[in-house]
Amino acid sequence: MRVKSEQPLAGIVPKLLAWFDRSARPLPWRRAPGVKRDPYLVWLSEIMLQQTTVPHAAPYFAAFTSRWPTVEALAAARDEDVMQAWAGLGYYARARNLLKCAREVAARGSFPETEAGLRTLPGIGPYTAGAIAALAFGERTPAVDGNAERVFARLLAAKEDWATAKKRIGVLARELVPADRPGAFAEALMDLGATVCTPRKPNCPACPVAAQCAALAEGEVERYPIKPEKTARPERFGTVYVLRCSGNIWVVRRPPSGLLGGMLALPSTDWSETRQDAAAPTDAAWAVLGQVRHVFTHFSLRLDVWCAQTTDTDLPEGFWTPEEEIEGLPTVFAKAAALAGLSARQKR
Ligand code: SF4
Repeated sequence: MRVKSEQPLAGIVPKLLAWFDRSARPLPWRRAPGVKRDPYLVWLSEIMLQQTTVPHAAPYFAAFTSRWPTVEALAAARDEDVMQAWAGLGYYARARNLLKCAREVAARGSFPETEAGLRTLPGIGPYTAGAIAALAFGERTPAVDGNAERVFARLLAAKEDWATAKKRIGVLARELVPADRPGAFAEALMDLGATVCTPRKPNCPACPVAAQCAALAEGEVERYPIKPEKTARPERFGTVYVLRCSGNIWVVRRPPSGLLGGMLALPSTDWSETRQDAAAPTDAAWAVLGQVRHVFTHFSLRLDVWCAQTTDTDLPEGFWTPEEEIEGLPTVFAKAAALAGLSARQKR
């Protein structure tokens, strides 16, 4: 049953689908209409696209699917290989959950085929479950990501607080999903939000559902969505060490859990909210090269970059690796390496 005040939006479905048939983005994980989608590819692309743009995710998707073409192949991969291949994509908890999920799916024999079943897998939340269920299994279920939320917030000119608006949008989106093309509806919303109903300066003259848009009728499209003010990220500080020896660089493996867990890294101090005295891993003629900044979800980080040559090859933890071969450093360490004149390649 539809909520009466929202019924006018029912008219957006055929318009959106017709627009999508004309304008769908040719993305590497998509298939022609009517071609069955592989849930592994849908899942992998959706996990990569969380907090990541399409151009940034696309080469990683190509590299992963070429190296691990099936969920079983990914499940059998070594943790460090997957973490290294993920380096540069950020939000590394996704990579750890990716492996956990692949192993669970491989143990079960296949992906669950429903939204509810998919939500029982590690790292799969409501949006991703909806997307896989709709795209790979044709379930009549919504996939409402940030793009879709923005589109609906504008169509509705949603003025309530954002948490309430998101719930209303979720209910409405579920009601609107067409039984015959749930996946196309999900992707049409994604594309509309990404290419037309953009956060800034939406291209309303090109919008297929402009006639139904309450925000456009008000003349205030960028007012929506009305989200609470973001609180400023706290800052953290630390020191990172670029230690070189005869063309090699000293690297460490971070602990398996926590931020950047399991990733290759340059040695560093703890990252704390107050500046602390640096504690270099070995005595050497350290030079301070400058500072790199990096923004994580919950804090922004300033790292002083120290560099030295050493002949002390016997250091606790970690190992030497040839400078030209450093691969798989997370972006924050790749920035520090770059400041030291090293080019940290990332496996693609
Ligand atoms: Fe977004 Fe403009 Fe379309 Fe409204 S008319 S949904 S604001 S692009």
